[in-house]
Amino acid sequence: MLGAARHTDADIRTILAGKGLDGDTALWQERLRAVTDGDVERALAEPAGSYSFQKLVALVSPAAENYLEQMARLAHELTVQRFGRTIRLYAPLYLSNYCTNPCRYCGFNRENKFKRTRLTIDQALAEARIVASEGFRELLLVSSEDREFISVDYLAGLARRLRDKFSSISIEIYQMSRDEYGRLFEAGIEGVTLYQETYDRQAYGYYHPSGPKSDYDRRLSAADSIAAAGMREVGLGALLGLTDWRVETLALAEHAHHIIKRYWQSHVSFSFPRLRPAYQVEDSHFNAFSDRNLVQMITALRLCFADVGLVLSTRERARLRDNLLALGVTRLSAGSRTSPGGYVGLTETTGQFEIDDKRTPAQVAAMMKKRGFEPVWKDWDRAFLGNPND
Ligand code: SF4
Repeated sequence: MLGAARHTDADIRTILAGKGLDGDTALWQERLRAVTDGDVERALAEPAGSYSFQKLVALVSPAAENYLEQMARLAHELTVQRFGRTIRLYAPLYLSNYCTNPCRYCGFNRENKFKRTRLTIDQALAEARIVASEGFRELLLVSSEDREFISVDYLAGLARRLRDKFSSISIEIYQMSRDEYGRLFEAGIEGVTLYQETYDRQAYGYYHPSGPKSDYDRRLSAADSIAAAGMREVGLGALLGLTDWRVETLALAEHAHHIIKRYWQSHVSFSFPRLRPAYQVEDSHFNAFSDRNLVQMITALRLCFADVGLVLSTRERARLRDNLLALGVTRLSAGSRTSPGGYVGLTETTGQFEIDDKRTPAQVAAMMKKRGFEPVWKDWDRAFLGNPND
């Protein structure tokens, strides 16, 4: 039976609350500051790729910053051992920027005034044809919370028509119920990414003051619904810059550990969405999150989770992305447009955030080859699953 939980252990809300990871940031900052060089060295001596909470605490601590080179080397070796020198390429396709939420960090915030766009299924197919012509066989459908138009029926209908062009279709869309995810899985969607944004309850309340997304606990339960519906890929993440990244990483890892333990059929991946300048967004109160922090976060997670996917988007600068390839990244977007109609050139629409790496997919693939990595445009075919209705 797809999606069955293997354990009846605690739910994620209880796990986070039990450790104070849903809001006791000051306590965790103090504990992280107390980590010593000896703690980090003991963590690095543990088998690479195995998870223990204490190990991760040591690896994301300020003390571990002096061990970044060693962490990077170990993360690289482990990733090559598990994934070879291959990196999957995918493209996002934005369907709508109408939104019923007022998230304070996002350009699609419902309060922002700009000309919004929704793509009909035929318009989305026209966009997808361009993406496919660039070589992509992995597509990520993205939309703001526009349930009225980008409905489950819309998504299922679109997925059915995209299946012959793309071997893998995922979504990064508003939260749904387990049954709705199940319907999308049957239509050919096999992965769902849904960020908690922040695991800190208080910060979550501030950044999501109203709207359907304002319910922290409901959001927290989404990954279980996705995995329970049988989805092959479950993407997790926290927006980097909303609160203290070290504490967010601990909560994120506990969330992943919980999903991996309970749902044997799902493969977990982490994304690293660093806050970017966005239309009409006041960013002066965002927390600092440096390139070194990103390196530490990526390598610490890889050293605790040998088999998870690590996904990097075009939010990051080209040069940084090139350098991060060797540290454990397994999936990269390229040539992205972050507004609906962006590939066909509907220039009047506003993007969700500014992208930094503006190279074409062919340029990104060439860079990867130059650095000794094989770009993989297709590594999965739904046919491997057989008919999910069987
Ligand atoms: S983050 Fe998502 S839900 Fe929030 S305003 Fe932006 S598009 Fe809407």
